[in-house]
Amino acid sequence: MSFITAQRIHNGQKWLPEGTTIEVADNGTILAIHDTPTNDTITYEGILTPGVVNAHCHLELSHMKGVVPEHTGLIPFLKTIPRHRNDFTDEQKKAARHNAYNELLQNGVVAVGDIANTTDTLDIRALGKLNFYTFVESIGFTEANAQKAFGFAISTYETFAAQQGANLKQAIIPHAPYSVSSPLFRLIDAHARDVVISIHNQESEEENKFYNKKEGGVRDLLQTLGVDDSFFTPTGRSSLQSYLQWLSPTHPFIFVHNTYTRRQDVQFAHSRLKDVYWCLCPNANLYIENTLPDIDMFISENANICIGTDSLASNHQLSVLSELQTIKDRYPALTWETLLTWGTRNGALALQMQDIGIIEVGKRPGILQIIDIDGFSPGLIRVV
Ligand SMILES: [Zn+2]
Repeated sequence: MSFITAQRIHNGQKWLPEGTTIEVADNGTILAIHDTPTNDTITYEGILTPGVVNAHCHLELSHMKGVVPEHTGLIPFLKTIPRHRNDFTDEQKKAARHNAYNELLQNGVVAVGDIANTTDTLDIRALGKLNFYTFVESIGFTEANAQKAFGFAISTYETFAAQQGANLKQAIIPHAPYSVSSPLFRLIDAHARDVVISIHNQESEEENKFYNKKEGGVRDLLQTLGVDDSFFTPTGRSSLQSYLQWLSPTHPFIFVHNTYTRRQDVQFAHSRLKDVYWCLCPNANLYIENTLPDIDMFISENANICIGTDSLASNHQLSVLSELQTIKDRYPALTWETLLTWGTRNGALALQMQDIGIIEVGKRPGILQIIDIDGFSPGLIRVV
């Protein structure tokens, strides 16, 4: 057991009063929170926060780092990934995946919402150091093949579900509005109506154009992938306002990216759903589309915001703190108190992990020291 304090402590929701001292067990459980330091309290330079949560990652794509050039836009990006995803040996994929896992740990991540198309990440889940919510992605825009596409996701899901581990969760989720047909949305929805639905949402304006008027780059993408979209009828609405009709409001939702999400979409989701998180992946947005979501709009709608890195195919690193730094650079009025909440407690709640993301008695959040909040990279240390 030890007693620790720092110049400032963020508990996952707010700054705690100066002098607050955390009593923490050797296994990381918070035993007590004291108003003043004891004689044997260790004082850390900088700040202490709960371990950070990466709510959207693709560890299985780690070998794709640097393969796709920056600023191509989403449609060319999506055309490139399947072309090159298997240009690597299993050993290369494994080495890249394990390096990425170590990078997450070094960067203070304690939990990850990890997208999976394969069972490649079983080995990393088995290491037991990270809390995993593995989102098994189902993809298939051809209506007639919905059952077959879903069957593939089921077999992947069942392999993950058979893996033992207290910190392991999994669910089947839709990849994106432009890659999942309405019958497939319904199959995913019905599989388990209380699991988290995480979906790539409005990452490109092309997605809205497709749903609205059946125009634009998504049609090119589907053509490239050999998908006949003749059955698809445009809805005259944005993608989000269209596909939510096929998903039950009983699910907690994580909408990922939201680069082209408008106020009406946020209001639509908030009016229909009970548990909504908007996951921002700013470095990936800058990498692919070279733009960011309208963060002020989300804040003015009282949106719950959490943070993801996306994969190393569209990012230079896997660091939640680097994502927060990118937001801070462009939105300097946002306080670290708010940003750190997005990176810790909000991510934990988005992944339905109540015991992390907060420094509170009985929780086991992992505690990080950040020596230089505005410089970050040096001095990030896992204390507990
Ligand atoms: Zn993604």
